[in-house]
Amino acid sequence: MPRDIYEVLGVPRNATDDEIKGAYRKLALKYHPDRNPGDKQSEEKFKEINQAYEVLADSQKRQLYDQYGFAGLGAASGAGGPGGAEAFRGFQGGFGDFGFGDVFEDVLEGFFGQGRGRAGMRARKGASLRHDLTITLEQAYHGIEMPLKIAKREICADCRGTRAKPGTSPKTCPQCRGSGKVQMVQGFFSLSQACPRCHGEGQIIVSPCPACRGAGRTERAAEMRVRIPAGIPSGTTLRIGGAGDIGERGGTPGDLYIHVVVKEDPRFERNDDDLIHEVRLSYPKVVLGCEIDIPTLNAQKCTVKVPPGTQNGTLLRIKERGMPRFQGRGYGDLFARVTLEIPKYVTGGQKELLEKLEKSFLEGEGEGFFKKVFKRT
Ligand SMILES: [Zn+2]
Ligand SMILES: [Zn+2]
Repeated sequence: MPRDIYEVLGVPRNATDDEIKGAYRKLALKYHPDRNPGDKQSEEKFKEINQAYEVLADSQKRQLYDQYGFAGLGAASGAGGPGGAEAFRGFQGGFGDFGFGDVFEDVLEGFFGQGRGRAGMRARKGASLRHDLTITLEQAYHGIEMPLKIAKREICADCRGTRAKPGTSPKTCPQCRGSGKVQMVQGFFSLSQACPRCHGEGQIIVSPCPACRGAGRTERAAEMRVRIPAGIPSGTTLRIGGAGDIGERGGTPGDLYIHVVVKEDPRFERNDDDLIHEVRLSYPKVVLGCEIDIPTLNAQKCTVKVPPGTQNGTLLRIKERGMPRFQGRGYGDLFARVTLEIPKYVTGGQKELLEKLEKSFLEGEGEGFFKKVFKRT
């Protein structure tokens, strides 16, 4: 198990973003491989610091970590807790192919040459995107695969990401001769810095692609299909690794977070995997007992026997007819909650019958009345 990431950065759990950034910057500069060449221990430490910062610099990841620890970074959040459905891709994978993402560069910019990649070109991870999705309880019951249109940045079709106007090509930067780096002397250190002329890219685009204005990426509505797993709790965030914005200059794409809200269904109350359906019954029905039909989410008929003498508020359990268990096997239960319906008005005839009934209770037939009822069934 890796070390607690707050501990790694040496900050309290309620640290502000600035405190985290400051602590990270300090440690990253201390353990940076450029300052500790060939030192394996520093390298490991540097990696650990970066992993911690990757989480704490991202409010969504930080929240997941606070709530569920490392397990939370593995998959989904929400009432169902973390687990491993197919729709999710683990966070650990992201740890493995660690690279310099946006967050690190923002902090370390200016301290070291940014060129980690080929020819000093700077790769940037694409931005992560969020999409809100509302589904019905029926869709949550069955699970659903649906098309989505997500506005995201993709490789420019005109220049294919080269950023140069089609038919032209980028020119090698004369200042760094294509390396993207220049040597800088700062006190005792000789540091390699990003070339100021080409910003570390090693190349200069003479005529930028008009379609993407030289960005190499354009935003468009991308069509994709997502699978929402059966039994998903409302408020769950699904992470689809690599489905966010495309990276820049060969950087990995960002992720797509789909926040799923399950609409309330007037027929059911949902309690995790259990469903509760309220049945309102008249006094004679609960006293004498009856059979009632309960709605279900899979259109199958469901009949429940209400025993004679059922008390107001009783929950009658119909096993395994509730919601499918999210990321598990089987189903929750369906309950019929018996609620006594008390009429506001009764007819003259009904009033007479009720008075007669009340009189018989007063005459000591109460228990006898119920006994007779129970015997009859
Ligand atoms: Zn273009
Ligand atoms: Zn240059």
